[in-house]
Amino acid sequence: MPHNPSLFPNDQLWPPIADRDFTLTVRRYVEEHVVPEADRIDAEDIYPAALARQMARAGYSSITLPAEYGGGDRPFAFALALFEEVAVGSAALAVSLLTTFQAQAIIRLFGSDTLKRRYLPQFANGLLASYALTEASHGSDIRTLDTKAIRCGERWILTGEKHFITSASGVDFFVILAETDVGVSAFAVPRDTPRLNVYEGRNSATFGLRNGPHMNLALDEVELPADHLIGTEGKGVRQAVTTLDYSRTLAAAISVGIARAAFDTAYEYTRNRRAFGQSVFEFQGIQWYFAEALADIDASRLQVFHAGKMLDTGEDIDRYGSEAKLRAAQVATRTASMAVQVCGAHGTMVNAPYSRFFRDAKTYEIAGGSTEILKNTIGKYLARGGGTLHK
Ligand SMILES: Cc1cc2nc3c(=O)[nH]c(=O)nc-3n(C[C@H](O)[C@H](O)[C@H](O)COP(=O)(O)OP(=O)(O)OC[C@H]3O[C@@H](n4cnc5c(N)ncnc54)[C@H](O)[C@@H]3O)c2cc1C
Repeated sequence: MPHNPSLFPNDQLWPPIADRDFTLTVRRYVEEHVVPEADRIDAEDIYPAALARQMARAGYSSITLPAEYGGGDRPFAFALALFEEVAVGSAALAVSLLTTFQAQAIIRLFGSDTLKRRYLPQFANGLLASYALTEASHGSDIRTLDTKAIRCGERWILTGEKHFITSASGVDFFVILAETDVGVSAFAVPRDTPRLNVYEGRNSATFGLRNGPHMNLALDEVELPADHLIGTEGKGVRQAVTTLDYSRTLAAAISVGIARAAFDTAYEYTRNRRAFGQSVFEFQGIQWYFAEALADIDASRLQVFHAGKMLDTGEDIDRYGSEAKLRAAQVATRTASMAVQVCGAHGTMVNAPYSRFFRDAKTYEIAGGSTEILKNTIGKYLARGGGTLHK
C-alpha cells in the first residue's frame, strides 16, 4: 500500500516554514512523481537515478548555490523545505539528493576558484555526486585513513578502498578523502577517472535508507591533476566536519519528513479503522500517542529551520546542526514506532509502509553522524565555553 500524503484531510497540519509557493510546489511534485515510486525503491534497493537527475536538472540540487554558478541562490530554508518534503514521499530519494549536496558543499566552501568554476555549474545541469569518507577500518574516526594520496609532480596518485558509499552506483562524480604526508585531504574525482573501480561489496545492503547498494570504491593508483585537491592539504578532516554541519541539518530535515509520513499514514488509518463501535482514532488513549508525536515533530521542525538560519549566517553551525539531527532522528524513530503500534497488525504488514518508515528512521540515527558523535560535538561546544554567541 503506497503512502499517500494527499489523503491527509488538513494540508495545514504541516504549514510551510520556508517560502510557501516553493514548498507547495515541491509537495505537489512529490505526490505526483515520488510517492508512487517509494515502495519500489525501498523493496528493490534501487538508486533512483532518473528521478534524482530530473530533480537536479530542475535546479533542486543547486538551490542554495550562488547564481554565478547557475544555482538558485536561495537561503538554506529552501533546501530544508525541499529535503523535508521529498522525504515525506521517499527518504531514499532525499538521501540521493543529499550526497550530491554534500559533494557540492565542500567544493563551494573550500575549493579553489578553478575547481569551483569547473564543477559547480555542472550541478545545475544535473551532475550527481557522492561523498566518500568511510573505509573498512574508519567510520566515526577519520583522523587517519588507509587510502593514501602521494604528490608526483603535477599529479596526485590515490590508492586505497572506500566502503559504504551511498549513491555510488549511479553518480558521475566523487569527493574522496585520502591521507597525504601532512594529513587527511579531500579530492575531486570524476567517475570516469581510469583505475577507479566502483563495485558492490559484501556489506553494501542496509535495512534502511535503501537507495541502492552502498558501494565500495577501489582506487588503484588513480591519477588526478594537482588542482583537484579541494582546499588545503592536511585540512580534510576540518573541511569534512564543516561540510557535515550542512549535510547534517539536511539529514535532520529528512528525518522530519519520515516522521511526518509515519504520522499522516497512521492518522489516516486509525480514523478509518473501527473497533468497539467507533474509529480507533476516537479513543483518547490513541489520540495521546498522536498528541505526543505532533508536539515532537513541531518542535523538531522549528529546530531544523532555526539551524538553517544559522547555516546562512555561519554561526555555531556545529551546535545547531548536531542538535537538529540528534533530535529529529530520534523523533522520527519514536513516531515510526508509534505508527506501528496504533495500526495494530496492519502496522506490521510487509506491504504497508510502516516498516520502511521505521527502518529509514532508525538508520538515520547512525548514517551521516551517529547519535553518539553528535552528542560529542555538542559536548565539545559546551566544553570550549560555547561558540560565537557566547564570546
Ligand atoms: C545508510 C548509510 C549510508 C552511509 N553513507 C555513507 C557515504 O555515503 N559515505 C561515507 O563515507 N560513509 C557513509 N556511511 C558510513 C557512515 O558515515 C558510518 O557508518 C558512520 O560514520 C559510523 O561509522 P561506523 O559505522 O564505522 O561506526 P563505528 O565508528 O565503528 O562506531 C560504532 C559505534 O560506536 C559509537 N562511537 C564511535 N566513536 C565514538 C565516540 N568517540 N564516543 C561515543 N561513541 C562512539 C558510534 O556512534 C557507533 O554507535 C553510511 C552509513 C549508513 C548506515
